[in-house]
Amino acid sequence: MQHNVPIPNLGQPKQQYEIKDTQSMDCPCGNRLFLDGVILRTLSKILTGEDKDRLISVPVVYCSKCGEILQKILPAELKDVKIV
Ligand SMILES: [Zn+2]
Repeated sequence: MQHNVPIPNLGQPKQQYEIKDTQSMDCPCGNRLFLDGVILRTLSKILTGEDKDRLISVPVVYCSKCGEILQKILPAELKDVKIV
């Protein structure tokens, strides 16, 4: 049996971007090299009803020079949390 699956109309073809179209993201200290890091949070078993607290990892990037976490990509709820 043959099915005719309609192909969704994707509109304009995807626009191509190049590195030269991008802008650099700087740390307030002026450094532009960042490292990957992870913030760990726990979610209480009281809230989830599970046996143990749940561990949640939130990926972040931090400055390779001063160690400051790049605030721009942090979830809003974590922006004011003292991390380092
Ligand atoms: Zn920095």
